[in-house]
Amino acid sequence: MTDLSRRDFLQSAAAAAALAGALNQSLAEEPTPTALKVSGPVVISSANGLRATEKAAEMIAAGADTLDAVIAGVNIVEEDPNDNSVGYGGLPNEDGIVELDSSVMHGPSCRAGAVGALRNIKTPSQVAKVVMERTDHIFLVGEGALRFARSHGFKECDLLTEESRKLWLDWKEHHSDKDNWIPSEVPDPNKRSDARRGFAFTYGTISCLGLNTAGDLSGVTTTSGLSYKLPGRVGDSPIIGAGLYVDNEVGAAGSTGRGEANIKICGTHMIVEAMRHGATPAEATLQAVQRAVHHTTEKRLLHLDGRPNFDLKFYALAKDGRFAGASIWSGGKFAVYADGKNRLEECAFLFQRAEVKP
Ligand code: ASP
Repeated sequence: MTDLSRRDFLQSAAAAAALAGALNQSLAEEPTPTALKVSGPVVISSANGLRATEKAAEMIAAGADTLDAVIAGVNIVEEDPNDNSVGYGGLPNEDGIVELDSSVMHGPSCRAGAVGALRNIKTPSQVAKVVMERTDHIFLVGEGALRFARSHGFKECDLLTEESRKLWLDWKEHHSDKDNWIPSEVPDPNKRSDARRGFAFTYGTISCLGLNTAGDLSGVTTTSGLSYKLPGRVGDSPIIGAGLYVDNEVGAAGSTGRGEANIKICGTHMIVEAMRHGATPAEATLQAVQRAVHHTTEKRLLHLDGRPNFDLKFYALAKDGRFAGASIWSGGKFAVYADGKNRLEECAFLFQRAEVKP
C-alpha cells in the first residue's frame, strides 16, 4: 500500500467506524420492545373472524407457527360461501367476476407475501404465503398470480355463488334506470339488496393477527374487496403497510373498510411505528383513523357536516399482548382470543353514528 492509499484506507476505516458507532447509537435510541407478558396465545381479528381467532389460538397453543395458525383461521371464512366479503362467495367486480386480494407477514423471519386481483382460487391467503416462501418477490397480481397459484397445485373454481351472482345482478339492474338492465321481478322488501338499501358498494374483509408465548407475531388480511369494483382494482388488503403490517419487535396491525382511505396513509405501518414509540394499541389505532379522516377532502366522501360517509377500522396487537380496535364510526366490534376466552369487543371510535347529518 502506498502512503496515500494507506491514509485513504485509514480515513475511510475511521469514517466507517464512526458510521457504525452512530448507527449503533441510533439503534440503541430506538425504544426497546416492551417486556413479554402473555401466558397463552392472543389472536385478534375483524368481527367476522370469531371462528378464525378460536382456530388460530387453538393451533398456537398446540405449538403451530403463528402464520400457519392465522392463515388456517381465515381459511374458514375464505371457504365460507355465506361470507360475502371474503374468498368463495365474495361479491364480484362490476363484470360479475370475483377478484381476491390478500397479504401475509411472518414476524420472526421478517418476510411478507401478497396477491392482488386473483381469480378462481378460494384461499388467496395461502397463495400469498407461497409467494413469500417460493419466490424472490412479495406481490403478484392478476393473471400472473393465477398462473403462479396453478403451478403450485391450487385448484380453480368459480368463486361466484348463486347468492353472490343474484346480488350482483340485482345491483346491475337497480343502480341506474338509464341503462338496458331491467329487474326481472317485483322487489322483495325482505331480501338483501345492496342497490335498494341506498348504496352501491359494500366493504368487508378479514384481518387476523396472532401472538404466541415466545413473543412471535404474524398476520394475514384477505378479502374480495369493494363490491362491484372496477375490474383490476386492488384495495389496501394486499398492500404491506396498509392492509397489514407486522414487526416482530413491536407488534402487528391490520385493517378493514374503505381501502382507498387507508392506502393513502399507510395506516398499519403508522400504527406499528406509533407503538414502537410508546403509543398503546388503542392510541395508535385511533391516531390512524384520525389521520384517514384528516386526509379525506373530497366532498363526495363527506356528509354535509364534513365527516366521512364511509368507515375504516384498524386492529392492533402489541408484542406484550395488549390489543385494540378502532373505527371512524361507533358500533364497530372486533374478535379477540385472550386469557383463554374468545369473544367480540367494542372498537374505540371517533364519531357517534347517531349524530350523523346525512
Ligand atoms: N379494505 C377492503 C378493500 O378496500 C375492503 C374491506 O375491508 O371492506 O378492498
